[in-house]
Amino acid sequence: MSDRVSCGVLRAADEGREVELNGWVNRRRDHGGLIFVDVRDHEGVTQVVFDPQHPSFAEAEHLRNEDVLRVRGAVRRRPAGTENPRLTTGDVEVAVERLEILNRSRVPPFPINVDESVDENLRLEYRYLDLRRPRMQENLRVRHRVVKAIRDFFDSRGFLEIETPLLIKSTPEGARDYLVPSRLYPGSFYALPQSPQLLKQILMIAGFGRYMQIARCMRDEDQRADRQPEFTQLDVELSFCSQDDVLEVMESCMRYVWRTALGIEVPAFPRLTHQEAIAKYGLDKPDLRFALELADVTSTFAGSDFAVFRSVVESGGAIVALRYPGGAALSRREFDALTETAKQYGAKGMVWIALSGDGAKSPVSKFLNEGSVNAACRVVAAETGDALLLFADTRELAYAVAGKMRNEVGERCKLRDPNAFAFAWVTDFPYLEIDEATGKPIPAHHPFTSPAPGDWELIESAPLKMRAQHYDMVLNGYELGSGSIRNHKPDDQRRIFEMLGLTAEQVEERFGFFMRALDYGAPPHGGMALGIDRIVMIACGEENLREVTAFPKNQVARDLMMDAPAPVDEQLVRDLHLTLKPGSPA
Ligand code: ASP
Repeated sequence: MSDRVSCGVLRAADEGREVELNGWVNRRRDHGGLIFVDVRDHEGVTQVVFDPQHPSFAEAEHLRNEDVLRVRGAVRRRPAGTENPRLTTGDVEVAVERLEILNRSRVPPFPINVDESVDENLRLEYRYLDLRRPRMQENLRVRHRVVKAIRDFFDSRGFLEIETPLLIKSTPEGARDYLVPSRLYPGSFYALPQSPQLLKQILMIAGFGRYMQIARCMRDEDQRADRQPEFTQLDVELSFCSQDDVLEVMESCMRYVWRTALGIEVPAFPRLTHQEAIAKYGLDKPDLRFALELADVTSTFAGSDFAVFRSVVESGGAIVALRYPGGAALSRREFDALTETAKQYGAKGMVWIALSGDGAKSPVSKFLNEGSVNAACRVVAAETGDALLLFADTRELAYAVAGKMRNEVGERCKLRDPNAFAFAWVTDFPYLEIDEATGKPIPAHHPFTSPAPGDWELIESAPLKMRAQHYDMVLNGYELGSGSIRNHKPDDQRRIFEMLGLTAEQVEERFGFFMRALDYGAPPHGGMALGIDRIVMIACGEENLREVTAFPKNQVARDLMMDAPAPVDEQLVRDLHLTLKPGSPA
């Protein structure tokens, strides 16, 4: 009898064992009269050898990559000098006694056995082949370990995983809902959840003090590299909790995940207020893998002869300085390219000053007073050999551009430690932000967020100054997710809706069910959600979510393997009481 083993386990100590291997042909080589086949399964690769005397030799000669095999034979040591240290099974091979070809494969449209770059749309069309590649197998293994660690952690802390429905009422959360037309109720629609936000709050009202869920969410948004129409979120809610309680549990979870799933100890997360994050790093998701900090040099240049600076200062804007380590060595062309990048980020321009050994050089040096330049250099600790970059604009824009340019400088100067995981908390967000599309104030998080306790009084006089009990977890310059302490008193929730301009009828129509639940003794509660896809993407060192998702949509929201979305049978459309516009494919 032979033992069925996986293709990743055989070692020198297994010499003499009779084994059975099942897998795919990873590679076939005909060599010195012998045929060598690397057999691959989900655990690894093992070399099997066909002897010319063997009856299945002729069959083996016709094996092609990705054919499916079962082989039986004896494990033997590879001859000295032919071991393969790159394979865990590289000390041994299996001398084939029996070959069974379980299935044949057509020639794959791209190689599976080498990690070479392949057009992404082709990879997505043949995802089952793409997923056979070691990198994708490893990424999905990491994903499994991360999710398992999350569940273990929350279980150990007394949280229940509770599923919430996918067919719900449309409760917009900042993005567009996917809608599902109802067959039974003509003209009515279910919405797919953008998140289980209101349901998890209702679970708190229902007395489940600690909820978590690995939740699927859908948002019908324009696609970006780090977005997918459907994604997975770690969704958490606690009752009778403070903001610190939520931060503690989420931070402990992530440190546990990194320790158990990735074998990495991460230190306690630094905490920054939103204001500090902007002042030091220009962005609310700072990349803390490098220390470079921005500085406000508005007052330093207050009396400047340089018209741009003068008018920015006079109109209440800001001048923000960034050090470019070693930047004095850049050519004028390189500075021009850098200025172009700043313009792409929304800047009107950028002033650069190269701090060369023989003095400061800049296209605008004749307008700049030496004392101001020296003072600006001092605040950002710029020295001879560095360059100083200055961004002058409205306060908001000057910081936003400087923050993005800080990342740019971090990248160009290789300031980021590629192996570092720099987590951080950003807290005390402003309650409102201005919606770019409409110019109107909208909640920076969502309207169920509670304002900072002392800030309620600003709700009428200066709502834009109101801060929220809203916090974000940040990792390596990405936002992993957000959360907040919620409004648990119905009157507070009503005041927020009122501030946002919703009439009582609109509140009833959209959120009536939720307002009624708040009326029945809702406990104080708060929570958070983190993007699992993004966490795994960063943990795997990948740069896009599709690399850690088994069956993602492409960049224009299509599933290329199944070919979705797709027209459906006309009758199905009629059953849903819908009519397609003439000319639409049915
Ligand atoms: N529902 C929120 C989101 O998906 C997270 C939260 O507030 O818990 O971003």
